[in-house]
Amino acid sequence: MQTRPTSVIIDTGALKHNFFRLRELISDNTGIMAVVKANAYGHGDVEVASVLEPLGCDFFGVAMAEEGARLRASGIARPIVVLGGVYPGQVEDAIALDLTPVVFDLETVRLIDERAKKSGLIKNVHVKVDTGMGRIGLLPGEVTPFFESLKGFRNIAVEAVLSHFVEAENEDKGFSKKQLGVFFGILDTVRRLGFAPRYIDMANSAAAMDYRDAHFNLIRPGIMLYGAYPAARLAGKVALKPVMSVRTRILSLKRAPAGFPVGYGRTFVTKRESVIATLPIGYADGFPRRLSGNADVLVRGARAPVVGTVCMDMAMCDVTDVPGAEVGDEVVVMGSQDGESITAEEIAGKAGTISYEIFCGVSARVPRIYV
Ligand SMILES: *Cc1c(COP(=O)(O)O)cnc(C)c1O
Repeated sequence: MQTRPTSVIIDTGALKHNFFRLRELISDNTGIMAVVKANAYGHGDVEVASVLEPLGCDFFGVAMAEEGARLRASGIARPIVVLGGVYPGQVEDAIALDLTPVVFDLETVRLIDERAKKSGLIKNVHVKVDTGMGRIGLLPGEVTPFFESLKGFRNIAVEAVLSHFVEAENEDKGFSKKQLGVFFGILDTVRRLGFAPRYIDMANSAAAMDYRDAHFNLIRPGIMLYGAYPAARLAGKVALKPVMSVRTRILSLKRAPAGFPVGYGRTFVTKRESVIATLPIGYADGFPRRLSGNADVLVRGARAPVVGTVCMDMAMCDVTDVPGAEVGDEVVVMGSQDGESITAEEIAGKAGTISYEIFCGVSARVPRIYV
């Protein structure tokens, strides 16, 4: 069936552009793990990985084993690291699919080792250490006993040791420095115990862009690949291009007198004779309800304010000041039109969140079109 005119356009040229800008940021012996968790932040993990793999992307990072399985099923051959770790019931499949687990507890390591032994192979794992995030990972005091125990597992190889920044996007690098210091201490301990991990990684997009000391020999960018900046102060520091745009078309137009209420709860009432456009996009598509009366869309290259409450499947905007607006006109919810643009960061700011959540929130019922 032909779809309604609401879609996500993914600009694969912009994705490649951002990948090359990342490459320019790092030294020749530093690799890139493209973070494609959560369906590549809503951009389509299989498609994004398929674009990046031929460009020489070294690793793909996913949050969970299911995401890795999907990439393998689509033919992605590069190493895939499961950043959130694998559950005991996933160990068998993770090994069969050649996914690389991040590990932070010995029980999982034992299961992986046992399964690897059965298959007669040595399984690479990446060991996560917690240098201040307070999430997953070995605390500094747990590092020595953990690695001592690892020596007892013959079918495990530590390919990488990694940690994660709490606030690398901050201008004040005080806490990041502290984390890096803890990480260096841990790496010393690991090496003293006889381990020589091939990769050391800690840098997300913010650190890739703004904290050279933390690059080591592998970076793990996510948001930058998709053309958004991890913080407003970093905007423009690297010339990124937004990859995602969200477009729809005017479904219906109403010429309304002054005093005409629009939408649930009558939160907007026209103050003048107005032209109100209804758009076939709502919060079920990932257009946040928080944007009710608090966002713009682009129609004929002009900003039109969203008025009334955003509904589940529709939203209304005021096109009184957009001369000639008609049913069927293209409406840009996120992206550019005739030189005007609305970024994910702008939408996120108005919705009280971050671009990451706006991207991830674009729901599965909105078709992705790759250009
Ligand atoms: C999501 C994630 C990243 C990528 O973060 P960005 O800010 O999107 O670059 C890197 N490392 C880990 C462990 C993550 O979970």
